[in-house]
Amino acid sequence: MTGARPLARRGLMFILSSPSGAGKTTIAHRLLAADGEIRPSVSATTRPPRPGEVDGEDYHFVSDEEFDRMVADHEFYEWAHVFGNRYGTPKAHIRADLKEGVDFLFDIDWQGAQQLRQKDNQDVVSVFLLPPSIEELGRRLRSRGTDSDAVIGARMARAQDEISHWDGYDYVVVNDDIDACFTTVREILEAERIKRMRQTGLIDFVRDLMKPVNL
Ligand code: 5GP
Repeated sequence: MTGARPLARRGLMFILSSPSGAGKTTIAHRLLAADGEIRPSVSATTRPPRPGEVDGEDYHFVSDEEFDRMVADHEFYEWAHVFGNRYGTPKAHIRADLKEGVDFLFDIDWQGAQQLRQKDNQDVVSVFLLPPSIEELGRRLRSRGTDSDAVIGARMARAQDEISHWDGYDYVVVNDDIDACFTTVREILEAERIKRMRQTGLIDFVRDLMKPVNL
């Protein structure tokens, strides 16, 4: 498209889900670092911060009471119970920014993905990452070293439950190799961006291509 301005397009809601330990956080961070057109949707949670997590960046860490208030004031697109804590996607400016062509990345579970799809089917693109094997998943969960055995055991059970929801997603990628997985996820994002229905500038662009010309 030499010399042409990029066509206006509608943004999309890019959901990445996976069982804990399948690489979702790594892929999400790489995507945000590599791609200037996508922003993270920062969830609110009642779980306490882990070492190194930053309030307002990783999550908005809120009290139970504050979470209750946000639910009552309809401040969430969706929210769910996960591992005994609550997590929710604040609406904030998402709708308005989508219109302006901004994409949002959601690191949420299958319950969130399902709720977002019910609310805004057209804008949602969902990707589910799977580990290459259950043994590898166990190894990855243990090697983190941040949680106790009891927590790891609960996460393993939860991971298998999460895996059972694979068929609610648009795309399923097996994360055997992190670089290959990242490339695939980027390709999905790029292809979804140029879907005809998202390219709101196309009508005028094509009209211009079809105007009478004197050669
Ligand atoms: P973690 O506590 O390990 O950061 O996240 C636990 C799980 O909660 C992950 O599967 C993550 O995707 C999910 N999660 C994080 N934020 C949200 C949210 O806003 N909504 C929903 N439904 N799930 C979330």
